[in-house]
Amino acid sequence: MNILLLGKPGSGKGTQSGLLVKRFKMVHVSTGDMLRQAKERSTRLGLAAYKYWWDGGYVPDDIMIPLMEEQITPILKQEKYLGDGYPRTMPQAETFDVLTRRLGTRLHAVILLRVSDDFCRDRLMSRSYCSRCKINYNTTSPLFTEQMEGICNRCRGPLEKRVDDAPDRIDYRLKDVYVKLVMPLYQYYRDRDILHEVDGDPDPYTVNDSIIRKLRKIT
Ligand code: ADP
Repeated sequence: MNILLLGKPGSGKGTQSGLLVKRFKMVHVSTGDMLRQAKERSTRLGLAAYKYWWDGGYVPDDIMIPLMEEQITPILKQEKYLGDGYPRTMPQAETFDVLTRRLGTRLHAVILLRVSDDFCRDRLMSRSYCSRCKINYNTTSPLFTEQMEGICNRCRGPLEKRVDDAPDRIDYRLKDVYVKLVMPLYQYYRDRDILHEVDGDPDPYTVNDSIIRKLRKIT
């Protein structure tokens, strides 16, 4: 089964992906992680893409689509795909459909994590990540209550804020970019009868149970 997680920045896509991958042995494809790693390695793509995402904008489709098609084709051929960040614009969704049809598969379910802007903002404001092992920390999440001040529990690396989690960038991502580019996908997938909405406000385990209940109904 191929699944896509949709939701605003801070809605919990990354956290839920981690839980789903463990349970269903899927291949987690996070475009955000991929772009951040490419930037750290200073690859040509990493540097080209950074000028779009550092301030909360999206990387243009003419860069993302060919790049992602190459990355995900082998996964779609052989394994279960868990999309966390791709597709997330209309052109990406349309070309993803063409690709899956060509490969004889399809997207089986789109899980939309419904979270209010206020909740998302609070989560993004309190989010940091370990600059060494890359694990995410969020002081509002019960998953990370034992966090020590500014230091990663797992590897003792220093915690940092994502550049696009600056307060003014958060509003731009939530109110502008997401509304214009991602929200049209809701109707696109609703029309195909594969959109499943889940309340993303509760704690991560409750949200995960709701997702699993939805997935059970369609398998
Ligand atoms: P968020 O869910 O907060 O947007 P991500 O870590 O998924 O965080 O993505 C970080 C950034 O990477 C996005 O703001 C965007 O600039 C870029 N990005 C990720 N996926 C895509 C995509 N499919 N198309 C264009 N840009 C993307």
